[in-house]
Amino acid sequence: MTLGEMPRSFLPPRVEKSVERPAITRFAPSPNGPLHLGHALSALYCHDLARASGGRFLVRIEDIDAVRSRPEHVASALADLAWLGLEPNAPPLRQSTRIPAYLTAFDRLKERGLLYRCWCTRAQIAAALRRQSVRHGPDGPAYPGTCRHAEHAGDPARAHSWRLKTDLAVDWAAGRTGPLRWRDLARGEIAADPGRFGDIVIWRKDAPASYHLAATVDDAAQGIGPVVRGMDLFDYTDIHVLLQTLLDLPQPAYWHHPLLFGPGGGKLSKSKDSPALRERREAGEDGRVLSDQLRARHFPAGISLSSP
Ligand code: GLU
Repeated sequence: MTLGEMPRSFLPPRVEKSVERPAITRFAPSPNGPLHLGHALSALYCHDLARASGGRFLVRIEDIDAVRSRPEHVASALADLAWLGLEPNAPPLRQSTRIPAYLTAFDRLKERGLLYRCWCTRAQIAAALRRQSVRHGPDGPAYPGTCRHAEHAGDPARAHSWRLKTDLAVDWAAGRTGPLRWRDLARGEIAADPGRFGDIVIWRKDAPASYHLAATVDDAAQGIGPVVRGMDLFDYTDIHVLLQTLLDLPQPAYWHHPLLFGPGGGKLSKSKDSPALRERREAGEDGRVLSDQLRARHFPAGISLSSP
């Protein structure tokens, strides 16, 4: 697919009016595969918004999944960003170096009695879901709560994950701050409903902290605001603001930018619709020209922030 075939998306004027200044944004790829055009646009939004506000553009490598994360994808992502002309203001933060911070947050949730061990396999969860009806959230049916009941408790020495008692957590948070809400720069105030995800995993069996815990802890530690990321993560923000309240972390504003879609209207597929950035870079294409083409197409007037 060429840029010309791609639907345009624009930076909503409301985002330009309401951005916090100076903005500290982060581009946070998971090095499970190569970056493609959708990542380039996301990084551009983060970079240009930060620069237009006199702020900082940061990069965070979300590499806590030791099985899926690959060093070659980390190296390639950083080379792609440099090729696009998007230099971060600080060395990239690697989540694999941040486990102690995630453990501290985990302990806090555990001390508050908000976590329980879970030994269920995928097959056991699927079987339990055939027997009982549960709420369906954006990720599909919620966990049926099997291990929350003492009679199903397994051996703590056996590998297990830790789940959040989401209903209790929501009540606890609402008791402190009132109903959970967050602010999206383009869409305004959003009422959060993290309960629809059910008892989410906070600490994984096969890897350390879940994405939700790690991203929430790191956004606070890096002073991120607004969090600029793709619309595919919009629903998860409900979970992140719940965790912020439970952990006494500040709540940033968010902007979930439009995604790039393939010619058929489906999600842009790396291999079929758009070659990896790495392939384009290695073929000798000029990355800064590509950045400027994306800008011209998606925010042709540039990003100009009005006075607060
Ligand atoms: N690591 C996530 C991804 O590559 C992004 C997480 C985020 O921006 O919060 O999709």
